[in-house]
Amino acid sequence: MPEPLRIVELAARSETGPTREHNEDRYLAADGLLAVADGMGGARAGEVAAQMAMDSLESVRRAADAEDLAGALRRANEDIHAASSEPDKSGMGTTATAGVVRGSSLYLAHVGDSRAYLWRDGALEALTEDHSVVAELVRSGQLTKAEAATHPHRNVITRALGAAPSVEIDTPEQGLLAGDIILICSDGLSGAIPDKQIGATIAGGGGLDAIAERLVAIANESSGADNVTVVIGRVDDAPAEPPLGGGAGSGERRSLPVFEEARTRSRRGLKPLVAAALTLLALGIGAVAWVDSRSFTLRESSGEIEVARGLPIGLQRTWQPTGVPASALEEAGDPLTGGTRGRGEAVRDAVDLIWSRGITLPKPLSTPDPDPAAARPRPAPTATGPEQP
Ligand code: MN
Repeated sequence: MPEPLRIVELAARSETGPTREHNEDRYLAADGLLAVADGMGGARAGEVAAQMAMDSLESVRRAADAEDLAGALRRANEDIHAASSEPDKSGMGTTATAGVVRGSSLYLAHVGDSRAYLWRDGALEALTEDHSVVAELVRSGQLTKAEAATHPHRNVITRALGAAPSVEIDTPEQGLLAGDIILICSDGLSGAIPDKQIGATIAGGGGLDAIAERLVAIANESSGADNVTVVIGRVDDAPAEPPLGGGAGSGERRSLPVFEEARTRSRRGLKPLVAAALTLLALGIGAVAWVDSRSFTLRESSGEIEVARGLPIGLQRTWQPTGVPASALEEAGDPLTGGTRGRGEAVRDAVDLIWSRGITLPKPLSTPDPDPAAARPRPAPTATGPEQP
């Protein structure tokens, strides 16, 4: 029977980054539970969705295994989906990747494109598969990994909590060895720098706090385009130690030297988990259609800028013209960013564009939600604080 292992050191860091106005990432790091959620949806609904996922996980904080984690994510999915019928939360959703150490194993529950990694003996290995359009294109051979890494729509996900009444959750399991480091992060890290660089940063050593800080700093320097969140735990034999106390992020921890000695181990541990990823293929078409219907882009069409609906992989169709001639952008040297976004964001960007060009609209753009209730000021959602733009 393998030695029971525990998380003996834990660190977390989450930053808005230089580009975004709000941090829609949320995390948990306590009692052996590590989790990251990356919310999406206009009007800060993403923060609400991500927080709902964390609240649900919090309720099973002393979870026994992945099924408990998956159950918590399923309940979060139902709650988020139900809440997303409210006008100001329409289309909200979140990724969620959670892990718990029990016995000598790491149990994971995973939806979306946040990631879990294992760092062992100097090598970093991904334990989760992204539920994203580009990841599926890579898996089906239509895109290389290198193309995926720089693809403008690499942040478009195909599975999320809140998208549908039910959700399929991956539950990979990984055998652990003393000295392993578990990293869970949002795509603000994994999308900003290659896995190699993440591994090298961990190998740089120091306490996990220092590593978390370096990872976030490097992601912000390299890209800075997204919120970035990392939760890192180190496992070791610790049968006599009580589990770490509660508290998010920089809660209590023992700081042990991590990298000073070369550890010898009897075996290399278990095979990498390929696990639940195969189910993705079955899911593909419906999920892509769902994402497609919620993806909006500013693009040029017949010399004019328009808001297009649909994924920019040949699925786009005109949704709303803006009346802004493409030549106006060329003169100003403004490129279109090209990224997909929610309807509300796309409309806001289009309106900004129109205002900045001083153009009189031929007809008004639709508001993000046709429901007049959406236009009324509402109390801020409780989980996100008081501000409204
Ligand atoms: Mn993100």
